[in-house]
Amino acid sequence: MMMDPVESMQPPLAECIICHKSKLYGIHVCGQLICLDCERAIVHSNVEDEAYAHYVEGMKRIWLSALSL
Ligand SMILES: [Zn+2]
Repeated sequence: MMMDPVESMQPPLAECIICHKSKLYGIHVCGQLICLDCERAIVHSNVEDEAYAHYVEGMKRIWLSALSL
């Protein structure tokens, strides 16, 4: 069986559930990806921040999609 060397060496791109950009690296939660940029933003944001609410919404989508599996 022939394997495509380029394809086999390429790590799979996954779409970040928060910023919806295709990223190579990030943390996986319930099979969903949170890219490093968003993960860092979540860690450094305060509960009072508008951005925090946005990220919480993203996290909620992850949990909901995990529950519906
Ligand atoms: Zn992201």
